[in-house]
Amino acid sequence: MPFADIIGHDRAKVLLRSAIVQDRLAHAYLFHGDDRIGKRLLAVRLAQALLCETLPADHAPEACGACRACRQVDAHTHPDFMMIEPDREQAHPQIKIELIRNIEHQVIYRPLIGDRKICLIDDADRMTIGAVNALLKTLEEPPDHSLFVLISSRPYVLPATIRSRCQALRLTAPAQTQVEAAVILKRELPPADAHFLAVLSDGQLGRALECNLEQARNSQKEFSIIFSAKGLQSFSTILATAETLAKADRALEAFDWLLRWLRDVLLLAVGAGSDHVLNVDQRTGMQALAERIDIDELLDLISDLEKMERQANRNLNLQMALETILLRVRHLLTPQHQAGASR
Ligand SMILES: [Zn+2]
Repeated sequence: MPFADIIGHDRAKVLLRSAIVQDRLAHAYLFHGDDRIGKRLLAVRLAQALLCETLPADHAPEACGACRACRQVDAHTHPDFMMIEPDREQAHPQIKIELIRNIEHQVIYRPLIGDRKICLIDDADRMTIGAVNALLKTLEEPPDHSLFVLISSRPYVLPATIRSRCQALRLTAPAQTQVEAAVILKRELPPADAHFLAVLSDGQLGRALECNLEQARNSQKEFSIIFSAKGLQSFSTILATAETLAKADRALEAFDWLLRWLRDVLLLAVGAGSDHVLNVDQRTGMQALAERIDIDELLDLISDLEKMERQANRNLNLQMALETILLRVRHLLTPQHQAGASR
């Protein structure tokens, strides 16, 4: 598949294409940017552009995506293409020195088929100190035919000595409209579902393409009932809901959906339009709520929820936290005059 297949990253594509055409590729690149925005895919496409066996006659740097070399790069079986990554099953995934040594040994030899040996190091910030030092030696005197692409969403973790030997390319998430267009094209979904997945994935294309739509829609429906005035009408319902969710280990999921719903209300309350609203189908109800809601109270609730999500791993009593939050949502939903009348 050619570069054109990649959504977004236009600046990076132009830069890499022209470097290939002018034969000015660096020996090492660092593709950095947020998680799951397509850094690795771009690196794979770069490798294919360099190793493709049937490049077009005009020498445009576009891989065919279909020849043996292109397919082998996709399958990580091309003899001139190496990829290493940490074992993500581990509690603390690391790239150990043995992996780098292995690459070091292979990269010295001339490429078997193409003109280059390409080595992709995914999550490069997971290298141990030993691995870093081994790689550094190779990067200091890289063989002419070698190309290293380091990928990282935490480039600041990489030592400056490594970073200074790589040409850094900062990649940013594609625009939400691009993500929606890609979801429509690749998953053949209607625009409403594409919008839903794009917003739900915070613009991360990889997530939007893999997300289980049916499951996400079911959760959306389920939580919209829980967070409705009816779902929150009595204390006993709230306590029961919090208990059920906490016991099913779904408290964090509840926080997440609640946060998204509150952010939707906030977007509508400040008149931001609905481009980034997730629960578009509940728009009428949310708009009515947005018009009578106490914005300060809403902002406090959002910021406390965000804090809770960050602290959730640290001994937070999730059931109690959920009870408290649901009671606050209930207060938020209660029209002020009613609150006054019931006093
Ligand atoms: Zn090809």
